[in-house]
Amino acid sequence: MQEAKKVKKPRGVAYLIPGKCIACGARCQSDCPEDAIEMNEKGEPIIITAKCIGCRRCVKICPAQALEMYFTPEEQKILATISEKIPEVAEVVETGIKEYRGVWIFIEHTEGKPATVSWELLGEGAKLAKTLGVELCSIVIGEKVEHLCQESFAYGASKVYLIDAPVFHHYRTETFFRAICYLVEKYKPEILLMGATGMGRDLAGAVATKLNTGLTADCTGLDIDEKGYLLQTRPAFGGNIMATIMTEKTRPQMSTVRPHVMALAKKDTSRTGTIVRESIEIKEDDLPTRVVEVIEDATGDQLDLAGAEIIVSGGRGMCGPENFGILQQLADELGGAVGCSRAAVEAGWMPPERQVGQTGKTVRPKIYIACGISGAIQHLVGMQSSDVIIAINQDKKAPIFEVATYGIVGDVFQVVPAMIDQIRELKSKKGGSPKNGSSNISLSGKE
Ligand code: FAD
Repeated sequence: MQEAKKVKKPRGVAYLIPGKCIACGARCQSDCPEDAIEMNEKGEPIIITAKCIGCRRCVKICPAQALEMYFTPEEQKILATISEKIPEVAEVVETGIKEYRGVWIFIEHTEGKPATVSWELLGEGAKLAKTLGVELCSIVIGEKVEHLCQESFAYGASKVYLIDAPVFHHYRTETFFRAICYLVEKYKPEILLMGATGMGRDLAGAVATKLNTGLTADCTGLDIDEKGYLLQTRPAFGGNIMATIMTEKTRPQMSTVRPHVMALAKKDTSRTGTIVRESIEIKEDDLPTRVVEVIEDATGDQLDLAGAEIIVSGGRGMCGPENFGILQQLADELGGAVGCSRAAVEAGWMPPERQVGQTGKTVRPKIYIACGISGAIQHLVGMQSSDVIIAINQDKKAPIFEVATYGIVGDVFQVVPAMIDQIRELKSKKGGSPKNGSSNISLSGKE
């Protein structure tokens, strides 16, 4: 009997959607393995269709979704025939992922002392769980850590999976990732969130690799779409765009979130929940690592910038390291801390621990005062969730004013000393009304 001829799936050719190219710098051309793309004088691609092999690399790399695949009418007919069979495959995946339910938060701690990011994640997880109509649970792993279960309930979890044994006294990738994988495989949560801390980044990568699922690191936003998928938003391409990433075909959907990106959940100590005690046999002798001693980091800047309620930050506009003294004075008057932009770190004016932004710290203070900072996207992603942003810049078109609650167009060397004087005067009068500041300062506010 003659075997039915197998229909080959058409690959199509790349096609530029008119008007969508942003001339990003020929990313599509440099990614094409067949030299099938030339650039015109406007920096837009010209596809040489005779050379295109339909590999889609240009379509995937384009930051503006300006490229798509083109199929001839005949190819479209073949695709339609093939796709009739696809639902069967999709159904199998769908059935598999439907078994996964619930939102889980990993509770990070050091010898029983919890990391605040875990409670922030419980707050965010509660919103996701509510939208999905599922349970919010946490995972507590350690030795003598049962008190973290009660705290988890206070911050919104209704169930805690607890693994408490001496082998988990100190964090080690091997022990913790085996424990989490065991719990996930047994109880099947659909979402698993961890803090984007040293421990969280290490653990999440190991867990996602073992479970063969997707992981989006350093998310700045989480949401649920109409189909129930987790929308994981994070800066991409050096912070120039915000990408929303989904894990469609595998479970759990995993994300890490930096401390202070999400608001701290409201604590209610009257809340209670269920503790599910679990155990996993891991023998100390079988482990490749042993914690001999834990040494506190006694070097560098001890200041907890990320935890400060008021931050006075300086940028290139401060013109030199000596001028950060006035920012320190303002911060001292307000009981705050001094931060800075990357430009100030690169100039050697401030230590890297004080940098705010994408490659620095994410902060969420009550008041953020940006002095001589332009407001580049990489800086904004680290501070734009602050409750009140006061920007001081002599350039009224500086992007920082777009996120500022109050904008002061003026010279920092006039504005900051004037603010210090007024605060001192107010303090000495204990509630007296402030006098008008410098005459050449204009104030504009959104509120
Ligand atoms: P500038 O952009 O030079 O701005 C200085 C501002 O000071 C100007 O707006 C000017 O009008 C104002 N000014 C000057 N003199 C005065 C005065 N006397 N009074 C008032 N205003 C004055 N940046 C970060 O901050 N954090 C990050 O984590 C970070 N990560 C990055 C990651 C990547 C991958 C990349 C590519 C860049 C990153 N950057 C980061 C750098 C970022 O793109 C900007 O270059 C940087 O934030 C600029 O710092 P700035 O605002 O201090 O300096």
